[in-house]
Amino acid sequence: MLRIQCPWCGVRDETEFRCGGESHIARPPEPAAATDEEWAEYLFYRRNPKGLQFERWLHVHGCRQWFNVARNTVTHEIVEVYKMGQQPAVRTGAE
Ligand SMILES: [Zn+2]
Repeated sequence: MLRIQCPWCGVRDETEFRCGGESHIARPPEPAAATDEEWAEYLFYRRNPKGLQFERWLHVHGCRQWFNVARNTVTHEIVEVYKMGQQPAVRTGAE
């Protein structure tokens, strides 16, 4: 089981949280002007890396706040936790 550091509540068990998938997915600035491929990319396509990934998590059984987690998908090590609207200090090396 993961132990996750909520930015507002502190360290809690994974069972208190829900993962919301990859973070930092930018909505096309003008959706009506986006092509079908651009819209499909926004809605469905994700990096799914082996290694460091940035994810959104919700503290559903706590403060009900969303936040970001940088997690290694191989080891499940949580490298960094940071608030929505912030950028991670760590980098994947892929960007
Ligand atoms: Zn919380």
